[in-house]
Amino acid sequence: MEMLDVLRKLYANVTPRLPSKYKDMVDVEFIKMADEVKLKEEVLSCGACALHETCANKVPGEGPSRADIMFVSESPGENEEREGRPFVGPSGQVMDTILDAIGWKREDIYITNILKCRTPDGRKPEASELAACRRHLLNEIEIVQPKVIVCWGSLPSNVLIHPDFRITQEIGHWFEQDSRRVMAVYHPSYLTHQKEGSPKQNELKWQVWDALQKVKDYQDSGFPTNLT
Ligand code: SF4
Repeated sequence: MEMLDVLRKLYANVTPRLPSKYKDMVDVEFIKMADEVKLKEEVLSCGACALHETCANKVPGEGPSRADIMFVSESPGENEEREGRPFVGPSGQVMDTILDAIGWKREDIYITNILKCRTPDGRKPEASELAACRRHLLNEIEIVQPKVIVCWGSLPSNVLIHPDFRITQEIGHWFEQDSRRVMAVYHPSYLTHQKEGSPKQNELKWQVWDALQKVKDYQDSGFPTNLT
């Protein structure tokens, strides 16, 4: 029996016996839990493109099914494929350090990739693969309802912001997508590929820091809807 069916059965058995004051609370929590499971199961059972044949482990999104901030990264790397989790390995460590410095907790953020399966040898995804996987991302955005989406790297920025997006020129700029703010920053792997401690690496780190600080300021001001 699939996890979602187990949850549904549990819900049907338990809730009728609850006092009404607890029922609303359980309803909300059940819906959140069911959404988390649904998001995962839809990815894990997906065979919409040929990548499911070569990918050892799919990498569904991770995090609360309702989150103000969503991170969208590129296609899964080797470490992510091995663990079946987004943003792990050296890139994940860089991201965790950045989160700590900004004052965010990873578990409060919904983290996902534009593509849920690793491409063979990490090659550039084909347009047809991105198109096939887009429905999972749209599903995630629909359920999670983030107030802000941060794109990590060019690929998600090209898909979510605009096809001609140039990260070197548009990093840290606000864009609007379906009444929510979207911004792009360099992918952590781009930072780790620079010479450690070099002026260029430091400059790139500062650009990422400044951009994410804007997201934090926006969060601290209560996510106002007007774009300035
Ligand atoms: Fe499905 Fe996306 Fe994996 Fe293709 S890459 S099989 S669309 S989950």
